[in-house]
Amino acid sequence: MNYFDEKKETMPREELKRLQSERLIETVKKVYENVPTYRAKMDKINLKPEDIKSIDDIVKLPFTEKYDLRNNYPFGMFAVPQSKIVRLHASSGTTGKLTVVGYTKKDIEVWSECCARSLAMTGATNESTVHIAYGYGLFTGGLGMHYGSETLGATAVPVSSGNTARQLMLMKDFGADTLCCTPSYAIYLAEELEKGGENIADYKLKRGVFGAEPWSESMRNQIEHKLKIKAYNIYGLSEISGPGVACECEAQDGMHIFDDYFYPEIVDTDSLQPVSYGMEGELVFTTLAKEGIPLIRYRTRDITTLSLKPCACGRTSIKMGRVFGRSDDMLIIRGVNVFPSQIEAAMLTCEGIEPHYQIIVSRVDNLDTLELQVELSEKVFSDEVKKIEELRMKIQSAIQSGIGVSCKIKLVAPGTMPRSEGKAKRIVDNRNLRD
Ligand SMILES: [Zn+2]
Repeated sequence: MNYFDEKKETMPREELKRLQSERLIETVKKVYENVPTYRAKMDKINLKPEDIKSIDDIVKLPFTEKYDLRNNYPFGMFAVPQSKIVRLHASSGTTGKLTVVGYTKKDIEVWSECCARSLAMTGATNESTVHIAYGYGLFTGGLGMHYGSETLGATAVPVSSGNTARQLMLMKDFGADTLCCTPSYAIYLAEELEKGGENIADYKLKRGVFGAEPWSESMRNQIEHKLKIKAYNIYGLSEISGPGVACECEAQDGMHIFDDYFYPEIVDTDSLQPVSYGMEGELVFTTLAKEGIPLIRYRTRDITTLSLKPCACGRTSIKMGRVFGRSDDMLIIRGVNVFPSQIEAAMLTCEGIEPHYQIIVSRVDNLDTLELQVELSEKVFSDEVKKIEELRMKIQSAIQSGIGVSCKIKLVAPGTMPRSEGKAKRIVDNRNLRD
């Protein structure tokens, strides 16, 4: 078996539980002393750090939500002075404000270790060449896998995203055996390769480590077939560290969560009460060793399951299933987090439309597509075609610059969008992620 750190990864569960307890106690003390939001949350329910005696007490702790980070923008949730922070990353939020995370030197080490474990889990070694086509920048994908690859001792190729022809050339010439990118980009690469009259047999690719957007088993089959590789699912979010919170091993049967660093729970989306293993619910994480921005019971909004079923690879960590959906309205479109409220805000900067709209998400040829159907106002509707087309272009560019993802715009006649008494159904997601 190919381990990055066999001792840590195969630790008996009892021993792991002791470690988790120690780390939780430390973390709770730290946030109570250093993060006003946590002190206020705990004081409100009369909870003192001393009340947390083991990992089982985690259920007593308050939840953390994305809005806690947003309300404390940019650095209000940090638990260490700025002098200890060596890196910042950020992801998009609901209102255009970013969710900012900060890392200490040790946080970067732990994160790199988790990404190295992930790569090793899929069979990569220090002999490997890792082609990293995730975006580099504030997004954690590129730099996370980059440091993971170097920590493993493999050769990192920091290609970042874009320029597909060059990606293919470098992948072939440098002899990459491991590809890291979003699953939809993997499919796109395969198709472009075919279009260019190339043969996959001329490449040395053996495996792909794909994440940053939800995907299905049927998509895995397609990628494996087209690229003649094993395709592995990796999970992460910047709030918890970035990629490498969990990853599939060669058994391809659920993702091992690095639960010595990130403690997972599944809660019922309505009652927020923990549910038993195997049941579907919202995934919640507590960071156990994070210094920069430790988070207690952070609600990821991702819907999945947990399992303690022993794994063929010998690792003892708990596993999570695929992400089936979200408990909020966030959409992940080609790796970019998109909130309908952002689309609405961008759309309403244009005059001549009514706030009656629907966002339709589909997957066409394995690429996510976004379509906005929006009603014209009576006045514009009777206008000439040219003016309506101008308006359509204007909305399109407002959305593109607002959310960073292209969106098809369909303008419809006044009064034709469905009306609803309660909460309007704004999103129609036609992607099937369950099979
Ligand atoms: Zn395994």
